[in-house]
Amino acid sequence: MKTLLSAAFAVLLSTSAVHAAEPIWDGNTVRMVSEKLADGVYAYYPENARELNAKGGASATSGGLIVGSKGALLIDTMLNQRLNRQVQDLSRKLGGGKPLLYAVNTSSHGDHSYGNMYLPVSVKVVQHAATRSYIEQHLEDDKAFMLQHFGSGRGIEPIKARTGDILVGPGATVSLDLGGKRVDIIDFGFAQTGGDLWVWDPQAKVIWAGNPVIAAKPALPWLLDGHLVATLETLKRVYAFLPPDARIVPGHGVAIGREDLQWHIRYLDTVRKQVQAAVDEGLTLEQTVQRTAMPEFSGYALFGWVHPSLNVPAAYRDLGKK
Ligand SMILES: [Zn+2]
Repeated sequence: MKTLLSAAFAVLLSTSAVHAAEPIWDGNTVRMVSEKLADGVYAYYPENARELNAKGGASATSGGLIVGSKGALLIDTMLNQRLNRQVQDLSRKLGGGKPLLYAVNTSSHGDHSYGNMYLPVSVKVVQHAATRSYIEQHLEDDKAFMLQHFGSGRGIEPIKARTGDILVGPGATVSLDLGGKRVDIIDFGFAQTGGDLWVWDPQAKVIWAGNPVIAAKPALPWLLDGHLVATLETLKRVYAFLPPDARIVPGHGVAIGREDLQWHIRYLDTVRKQVQAAVDEGLTLEQTVQRTAMPEFSGYALFGWVHPSLNVPAAYRDLGKK
């Protein structure tokens, strides 16, 4: 079944005429729930995320809310109006009457940022500077990509850009005061898009990762924009930054622990070593993909796509340059 699924996704995702195919997950049916991680600190994720994460399936987007005495900060604004409304409803319920002051996009990806346009105008959107310029220049390409993988009629068509009011520059940290609650929004380096922000609550020791950490094992990184080596270095930097008891809310799943990051680091390290060996032997990309099958990491439903079609080629391009 898993092999079949992988093959189906490989076909689904590697051809261009796939508009009629099943979406990776369906933005018309996902139902968001919340989990309290500490006082005023909540993870949001789809109600089936825990089950999907455990079996290596593809869950819809996670996010969350941090509430201080002055107001609240929302992490990620979701794919469409329907899902954005769900996280706004949860935030009203959990925010104890405090206003929503900020909304952070962990990246430019539509499932983390398209909902911006449905937020009240009073909410300040926080983005990486690279995310804002990407959206300003490429929203239509991005919508085409999202329509291809998440289906038409899922609320993607009406999306218009609403870009950041507060920008985080390369390598920078922006700290926001929610009232007795400081939140640090950090660029740890290239992690998937080059505009990747991590949201860190130092009191609760919770970090939101966005897509650079998709979910717990057996999920794997999606190197959609390449740069395997930089991504690996960034994940190691985040691991070194976090205290041992930190929790990580990934981009598509329930909270995990700091040690769970090692699965992702080990995977990228293994890809790097094996691809380096293939490059050193002068193999072609095709031969390299065949050589680096890495079945020990194949438990993820999207393995048949992300590993041979994204991650190994990304490593080959990175390591072949030297
Ligand atoms: Zn995502």
